[in-house]
Amino acid sequence: MFTSCFIDVSVLLLHIKFICTATQSDRGYMQRWEVVQRTLNGSQFYTYSICNVEEREQDNWLRTTFIQRHPLASRVFVELKFIVRDCNSFDGASLICKETFNLYTSESDADVGTTFRKSQFKKVATIAPDEITGKNEMHINTETRVVDGLSRKGFYLAFQDIGACIALLSVRVFYKTCPGTVQNLATFPETVAGAENQPLTEVSGVCVDNAASEELPRIYCTEEGKWAVQVGQCQCKPGYEEVKDTCQECRPGSFKAEASSDACEPCPANTDTLEHGAVLCACKDGFFRAPTDPSTGPCSGPPSAPRDLSAVPQPSVGRLILSWTPPEDTGGRNDITYSVECQRCDGVVCHPCGERVRYEPASMKLTEARVSVSELEAHLNYTFIVEAHSGVSHFSHHKNPLIFSTLSLDPPQITTMRLVGRTSTSLALSWDVSPRPRPQLNIRYKLTYHKKDDNLDKTTYTVLTLDKNSAQIKDLAPGTAYLFRVQALGSDDNSEGSRMEEHFETLTEGTEQNPCTSFTSFMQIVGWVVGGPLKGNLKRNSHTRQGPEDTYFSTPEQLKPLKTYVDPHTYEDPNVAVLKFATEIHPSHITKQKVIGAGEFGEVYRGILKAPGRKEVAVAIKTLKPGYTEKQRQDFLSEASIMGQFSHQNIIRLEGVVTKFKHAMIVTEYMENGALDRYLRDHDGEISSFQLVGMLRGIAAGMKYLSDMSYVHRDLAARNILVNNNMECKVSDFGLSRVLEDDPEGTYTTSGGKIPIRWTAPEAIAYRKFTSASDVWSFGIVMWEVMAFGERPYWDMSNHEVMKAINEAFRLPAPMDCPSAVYQLMLQCWLQDRAKRPRFGDIVSLLDKLLRSPESLKTIADFDPRVSIRLPSTSGSDGSPFRSVSEWLESIKMSQYSENFTCAGIVTMEQVLQMKTEDIKNIGVRLPGHLKRIAYSILGLKDQTSTLSVFAV
Ligand code: AMP
Repeated sequence: MFTSCFIDVSVLLLHIKFICTATQSDRGYMQRWEVVQRTLNGSQFYTYSICNVEEREQDNWLRTTFIQRHPLASRVFVELKFIVRDCNSFDGASLICKETFNLYTSESDADVGTTFRKSQFKKVATIAPDEITGKNEMHINTETRVVDGLSRKGFYLAFQDIGACIALLSVRVFYKTCPGTVQNLATFPETVAGAENQPLTEVSGVCVDNAASEELPRIYCTEEGKWAVQVGQCQCKPGYEEVKDTCQECRPGSFKAEASSDACEPCPANTDTLEHGAVLCACKDGFFRAPTDPSTGPCSGPPSAPRDLSAVPQPSVGRLILSWTPPEDTGGRNDITYSVECQRCDGVVCHPCGERVRYEPASMKLTEARVSVSELEAHLNYTFIVEAHSGVSHFSHHKNPLIFSTLSLDPPQITTMRLVGRTSTSLALSWDVSPRPRPQLNIRYKLTYHKKDDNLDKTTYTVLTLDKNSAQIKDLAPGTAYLFRVQALGSDDNSEGSRMEEHFETLTEGTEQNPCTSFTSFMQIVGWVVGGPLKGNLKRNSHTRQGPEDTYFSTPEQLKPLKTYVDPHTYEDPNVAVLKFATEIHPSHITKQKVIGAGEFGEVYRGILKAPGRKEVAVAIKTLKPGYTEKQRQDFLSEASIMGQFSHQNIIRLEGVVTKFKHAMIVTEYMENGALDRYLRDHDGEISSFQLVGMLRGIAAGMKYLSDMSYVHRDLAARNILVNNNMECKVSDFGLSRVLEDDPEGTYTTSGGKIPIRWTAPEAIAYRKFTSASDVWSFGIVMWEVMAFGERPYWDMSNHEVMKAINEAFRLPAPMDCPSAVYQLMLQCWLQDRAKRPRFGDIVSLLDKLLRSPESLKTIADFDPRVSIRLPSTSGSDGSPFRSVSEWLESIKMSQYSENFTCAGIVTMEQVLQMKTEDIKNIGVRLPGHLKRIAYSILGLKDQTSTLSVFAV
């Protein structure tokens, strides 16, 4: 009752080839499916056809061969191309003619060959044509049906004809896949699409090389074989960027810091990388990233220095406003802050100003280009260093401080005002200020006065502006009280310190028998001498250190400042004097550390002074040894009374005194390098002429100050100059009796008293004419000591020989290597006629001039080794020739080289005489001073003339 025909499906998904062999069960009345050759549009092809339209109960089967199933393909599509004849196209169309056929399937795990059991087949669908084919035209229909739920190894398809006229052109069996793909940097494998009840197949993928994903990348394959809805994004790793579904290394000059879908970025400003695949770009040389800067950001340079630093004093509120312009180059940053550092510079050494100085808003991390500085001490030099900082400035050691020196502008306060002299028509006043201003500062004072009893409303004020702390007011009414008010002015003259008021009365007429008397006493008090007709009447107290040269004295103008050195002996009670000029210190504030010297009154200690509210300072403490007499105590303290009146960079500063306790003490600033003569001897040949002249300039400046104060030192010598660790020289030794008692150089003279002959001017030796001009002579000797590195003036000549030589117009010869200009100045200081000697003011100017043009120091004065080196130079101490090299070296104070000579095999004086400068150098004498000293000595030894001679002027 049915026919069947098998189709061999060779390749799934391809058109099925019909290799049909038909089997039949009943050939008699049933027609089977046949292979028919047809021609369509000129091309020939085969069809499986059947056309039993006029017979009833048709049931003709055509079955395929076994179709192996892809294990994942549970759902296959069956596409049929076929032709169905229109039943009406048959003449006398039968009512039993059909126009459809059926599609069946049967699953199997094995090929069953030709065995066919209808019951094993399941119907998939009835296939009806969209267009039926008539007599004259042919319509090929294409229908696709799904066979679902397949699970066994293979299956068969079968077509059941139930009485239609059909031609089966092709059968295509296929399943759908989503093709292998790379999507969003994830690779997904080819995936069979669809299954029963599973329209979407979830597929996991893998990120491409150098890409990563936090989540496993997934995608869905639709039943239609289309990819849909990807989950989990793969991204190129740091240093890689996406290029056409791959991750490629960033090119040099670009970077990518993170896994992202972004492209590599060009290196930011001031950075670069030469590598492929850079994760970061490194800073170029000189550029940095702050710790807070993103590593992906640009690099920046340290800022340049702030500019245009300026200081505006606000004396009324005691502060200074510093402001500046931001740095020209901020290094490309906007986190610029500033710091302000305050330093106090003395000479070449600077120290921090300490914690007292206040900054508003702060001294660090300033964001505004300004700061207010207060609590500065009055009248000191301050240096401010303003630095710009940024996040990267600490990477650079290149600091750009701007240094600005200014002066605190708080005017000093007036502490005392006193009357120092009066007549019936004039009053002489002086006053003290605290803190004591530095002499180089021109402090100005406003002095206002009026008659005390004047009705205030009608009072006529007289206002004077003065530049010294004293005044003489003339043309006053006799026997009248005047009210004086004095104030120090700030350096801008607008600010004013606290004022002090005192009233003083002029003498009544007739109480002055001799107008000179009162002035004489006045002058004795203040050491201020009025010239003109009064000159001859001056009483000179031989005990008092008098004013300087007569020619220094001139009639003071009305407001010419008084010279304020006051001889403590003019006080009836010297204890009052010392308290007037010196601050009393409580002994508990003083710590003695070490003995550093011995004076005639007692030991000198190094120690620490810690006064309440002040910083610790290193000090020298002079003590008065036990068992002193009251006279000795007064003499001891008189040094403080004198020193306390001075305030100058080159005068040793008095810190204070202890007088109210058993052990009296004088406390002065500490001078680290001690006495100048010793210091120079210890540094023989090591200090340049320029530096030596600088030291002399300091001493001269101190002496000028003293002479301006009408103070005559009388014992100026290198041993009385102290040196601090800045090589600054300060004049010391001010005791009244010290020249007489203390100085080992002091020698009794026929004119009475003890005098350091070698340092003293002939007129002072002869008739005690001590003046600033005689101090100038001594200064000349100090110059010689300095230039000769502490050599003893006139070597071992006796005092008598020295005085004789001087009287015969001989003078010390130039020391070795002494600049000619310096030696000329010494000779000027040693002029017999004291009026012709230069003043200290002239000396300071000349030394300044030499220091300003160091070239001027290059011309060296003639040097005669026979007289400049310790004489006699050609023989031992007993006048006989040197017996050994060491004896000779000792005589020229070069014993330290004894070993050098011995080691070099130079053991006899004959060998020494053969030596040239080069040889001396070769045995290890390196210091130029020493080299010359030895060379000159040898020169002198060769020259047999060895008379002691000093240069005549
Ligand atoms: P005088 O009694 O002033 O001659 O001092 C004796 C010695 O003590 C000096 O030669 C110095 O060595 C030492 N001396 C005195 N005053 C000071 C000071 N202010 N600083 C350092 N050393 C000093």
